[in-house]
Amino acid sequence: MKPSLRCLQSVQRLSMRPKSTSFIGVGRMGSEMAYNLFSKQFAKKPEAQFVVCDAFPEAASSFARNFATAFPGANIQIAQTPEEATLASEWIVTMLPSSAQVKTVYGGGIIPTLRSLPAALAQKTVCIDSTTLDVDVAREAAKDVIATGASMVDAPVSGGVTGAKAGTLAFLVGGPDASFQAVHPVLSMMGQRIVHCGPSGAGLGAKICNNLILGVQQIVVAEAMIMGQKLGLDPAVLSSVIGSSTGNCWSISVNNPVPSALPDKLPPCERGYEGGFATALMEKDMGLASDIASKTGTELPLGTAAREVYRRMIEKEPELGRKDFSSVYRFLSRDT
Ligand code: NAD
Repeated sequence: MKPSLRCLQSVQRLSMRPKSTSFIGVGRMGSEMAYNLFSKQFAKKPEAQFVVCDAFPEAASSFARNFATAFPGANIQIAQTPEEATLASEWIVTMLPSSAQVKTVYGGGIIPTLRSLPAALAQKTVCIDSTTLDVDVAREAAKDVIATGASMVDAPVSGGVTGAKAGTLAFLVGGPDASFQAVHPVLSMMGQRIVHCGPSGAGLGAKICNNLILGVQQIVVAEAMIMGQKLGLDPAVLSSVIGSSTGNCWSISVNNPVPSALPDKLPPCERGYEGGFATALMEKDMGLASDIASKTGTELPLGTAAREVYRRMIEKEPELGRKDFSSVYRFLSRDT
């Protein structure tokens, strides 16, 4: 029998706030992160309350159903809106697609709700945003949250869906030192490496620099794998050679784009490029890098070319936009 799920009342009992964590955005990454966080919190404090919220209602309800089945007796609830999620919990984690959604969720939900709360309650609230988004938008949201008395850090992640599921993510944190110390135990329930990169926005800066490299790397790996096969090389042999040579990188040894090239691993190419890091999100991250480059006067010859490849890929084959970005191999194989 399926467990029955409760939805939060519009005015959640504020008395539960100290024992409650809300997770907003339970998509590919958020659902795995929330599962780790809630299950570890439940093991420590069975009386805790867990709240999920998503613009796609089925994402929140299927998460809550799965969690309630795995942890009978856990108090898992669904918030219909970010306002409800903010009223419900002192701890709020957000994992949204990008800047537009963070503006909506924070500017239109979390921040006005914090302003409406008694100061003593607002001050106890801690917001962790793990979205990869524009540094300036993130700094603006953090400034407005902090002005209510609450705390906020940017904590984008590296490690993908596999790392989110395994609880081995790296968190790149931006914010005041006291906030970093406060969020560290919570982030440790979802990841292994928690790095304080500097003040607000610094975590995002580090994340965007990393993804600039990754976006270029995945394309050049696809190019090499296509060229090698045209020369008659077996993709598993070629991957093994590169994987133990100076060309080794995550895109060849973990996220290899050629089916059967990594016999002992299961990268997204083994399931039709489903379930990894969407090409549309990579194109978004390359755009974030190019915005920073314009503002800082940085030349990005490879980054600009790579962004154009992803843009063309999504335009010509829109279904590849939601598949893992290693499907650039499939796109370039057909394109050449
Ligand atoms: P996703 O699209 O699978 O999940 C985002 C979720 O947010 C969805 O469930 C969506 O319905 C929800 N959402 C959107 N707007 C909302 C709103 N207004 N209110 C509430 N919920 C809303 O994306 P993802 O792959 O989980 O990525 C999330 C973030 O993590 C992105 O910024 C991405 O760049 C970053 N990231 C992703 C990966 C990866 O491998 N997928 C790796 C590292 C970082």
